Formats: sequence, C-alpha cells, structure tokens
Amino acid sequence: MDLNHFYKKNYGDRLALLKAQLGLNEADLEVIANGRTEKGNQIIENYLTDFPVPEGVAVNFLINGKEKIVPMVTEEPSVIAAASHGAKMTLAGGGIQARTTDHLMMGQVLMANVEDADELSTQLNQNEAAILKVANDAHPSIVKRGGGAKKLRIRKLAHQFVSLDIFIDTKEAMGANMINTMLEAVATYLHIKLHQTSLMAVLSNLSDECLATATCQIPVASLATKKLSGEDVADRIVIASLAAQVDPYRAATHNKGIMNGVDAVVMATGNDWRSMESGAHAYAVKDGQYRGLSDWKVSDGKLIGTLTLPMPVGFVGGSININSSAQLAHKFLQITSVKELETVIVSVGLAQNLAALNALVSEGIQRGHMHLQAKSLLLSVGATDTELPNAQLQLEKCPVMDANTAKQVLKTLRNKGEINE
Ligand code: NDP
Repeated sequence: MDLNHFYKKNYGDRLALLKAQLGLNEADLEVIANGRTEKGNQIIENYLTDFPVPEGVAVNFLINGKEKIVPMVTEEPSVIAAASHGAKMTLAGGGIQARTTDHLMMGQVLMANVEDADELSTQLNQNEAAILKVANDAHPSIVKRGGGAKKLRIRKLAHQFVSLDIFIDTKEAMGANMINTMLEAVATYLHIKLHQTSLMAVLSNLSDECLATATCQIPVASLATKKLSGEDVADRIVIASLAAQVDPYRAATHNKGIMNGVDAVVMATGNDWRSMESGAHAYAVKDGQYRGLSDWKVSDGKLIGTLTLPMPVGFVGGSININSSAQLAHKFLQITSVKELETVIVSVGLAQNLAALNALVSEGIQRGHMHLQAKSLLLSVGATDTELPNAQLQLEKCPVMDANTAKQVLKTLRNKGEINE
C-alpha cells in the first residue's frame, strides 16, 4: 500500500486512495460522508469522519443541594439508566455531597543515571525559587489568572532516577500543554545552570493533588426490596465493597463500573478520558495493591459511600472551546467552572458504583442489562419503534437471547400480524 505522505494529501485524494486500496463501496463512502464535519478536520490528523457515539442524560442527581441533568456519552446500554437509578437511591439521604481540592496538576522533569541523587536534590532545593520562576515565565498568562507553578517535590527513585515534580495550578484548564511547555523550559534551565540533563519533561496523569470526593449517606431502610431488608442490602453492599479492597480481580470490574459513568461525562464535556482513566487506575494502586476506588460502610443506620478520584479535566482548553456539544454539556449541567464539573464527575462515579453494587448483591445485573440488550438486538435486526415493545417482551421470554432469536421473534410477530412493519 502506498500511503506515503498521506497526511499531506487533501481530503478528496485521501478518500480516493482509501477507496482504491481497500475496495470501499458507495455505502462505505456514504457512511464517511454522512459523518464528515469541518471541526473534525481541525481537531485531529488524517481526518475522515466523525464516529457516532450516543449521548443521553442521566437524571435524579442532587449534588451539593443542586439538581443536575447530566449529559453522558456512551455506547454501552444500561449505563445511563444505572446512573439515574443510583442517583435516585441517594435522594433518600439528601443526594450527594461533593468537594474538590485545589486544581494542582503535576509534571515531572525526569533525570536518569544520576550518580549522586543526594547532591542533585540539594542543588534542586537550593534553586527552588529560580526553577518556579523559569516555569512561570514560560507561560505567564496562567500566572496572570492566579495560577502557575506553586511548589516542587524531589523524588529519588530506583535505578538512579530522580524526578523533579512541579505542581502547577492550571486554573480552568486540564493544563497538559501548558505544563509541558513549563517543564521543557525547566529542563533547559537545569541543563544550562546545573549541567544536569533530563530524560524527559512531561506531565503526570496521576494528579493526586487535584482530587474530587463525593459522599452520600442513605438511610438503610430506604434500600429494602421485596426480598431483602434494607439492612441486608446495605450489609451486602459493604461486603461487596470490601471484596474490591482485597481482590484486584474484583477491584478491576468494580472500578470499571465507576468509570462507566465517569468516562461518559468526561466525554460529554469534551475532556480527555484516557487521562482520566490512567489517573484513576494509578490512584487505585497508590498503596501498592490495586483496590476498589470507592468505600462503603454502615453507620448510625445509614449506608455511607465515598469516592475520591484524580481530576485531570478542564472547563476550557483542548478541543472543548471548539466542540459545540461540550459547550452544550456545560449548559445542561449549568456549570461555569472546572471545580463544579469535577463535583459532577465524581458524583456520577459514586452513583454508578452504588447502582452496580446494589444490583449485583440483590437481583444481579443481568435482568436490567438483558432488557436493554433485547432492545439493541431487535433494533440491529430491523425492528421499528412500533414493533419494539411487543417484540422486546417476547424476546425476553426466550431462553437464548441473540440476533438469530431476535430475527425469529420479529418474524413470528410479523407473520401473526401482531405488529406491522
Ligand atoms: P490548551 O493547550 O488548550 O491550554 C488551555 C488554554 O486555555 C490555555 O493556554 C489558556 O490560554 C486558555 N485559558 C483560557 N481561560 C483559561 C482559564 N480560566 N484557566 C486556564 N486556562 C485558560 O489545553 P490544556 O493545556 O488544558 O491541555 C489539554 C489537552 O492536552 C487535551 O486535549 C489533552 O488531550 C492534551 N494532552 C494530554 C496529555 C496527557 O494527558 N498526558 C499530553 C499532551 C496533551 P492562555 O494561553 O491565554 O493562558
């Protein structure tokens, strides 16, 4: 395949090349054409088309006393339903309380093969004020906004590495680019001033001084189901959360459930979900063992849940400013700052976790999942909106739920004339 200088070609030539090389047909080209936007081309390289991921809204959120309608972008059925359900469960206890730390992101100038780490640490400490000034001079506009490099930390690592960590208040932005600019200026300064070379200078996604915490306190009695008392449900949720503290295999899935909600809001608000994911999972292993990110306990007749997450997100910056869907998400949320956004993201993570644990320890998650799965299957085999309710009912009664069965159900109902195409 000759794709040399692909990036230099104009849109039409790129498409023609792909068509010829891959044998794309008219239907394929229509998919590409239908999703094409001007903005996509401004955001990424070798742009072809926008990839559609559905967006919906979760309801029932009461965060710090304010009702929130939460936009969520996800391809996974039942995530939004579960977030809304988890949020509803918290209402019996007054909703969710959320707080944030300072928005202090961290970047590191990493030095390798350091022969005398103590000597280097002393030198770096002696130059602290100068290093902070070099960092701030590299991006003066953030300093004018009240942010900028605030403090240093020096870590002597195994294998003769030394990391100079710089904590930077990036105000309303996630800050990756401004941090990297500052760090590279510091690396140059260290080279000139201390004759110290660095291996790399880049932000860390483990932003553990930029955190958000959500808590809820739900009266145990409100958790009762037809089969289980509220006490039983609460106790089972607590034990389930304990399992995620002791078993990394359970913790991985426990945390995936949390990130189902977190990522969906991070995406809806135009933020970098890889950054969010890497930060969350690194934070989950902060004491050496990978653990569940949330904690649930019962006290004074209440089920108390807590979730803390690193928050490498922004209200401005990256592609947020040119992404009209992200701007719309801010309107849905009625927020004007990154800190408010952080409180929403962490609250959705907590509600999502509550809904998942509650379902797992009571009826299991498959019943709810299969309801939505039946809908997806039927849509994928051509069911129309009018056909869906009846077909869904029939498909859910089948012992096996797959595309073939969905086709059969639809065919039978159409033959019987119980639904019209
Ligand atoms: P930008 O490079 O867009 O920087 C944010 C800009 O927003 C600033 O330069 C600033 O402009 C402007 N701004 C306006 N108002 C404010 C305000 N109140 N507070 C702060 N800034 C303001 O984005 P980021 O530096 O935030 O970087 C985020 C992007 O970097 C994301 O797209 C991410 O995917 C990507 N990225 C992520 C990495 C990672 O996670 N490891 C690595 C590299 C990139 P002004 O110049 O006027 O101050």
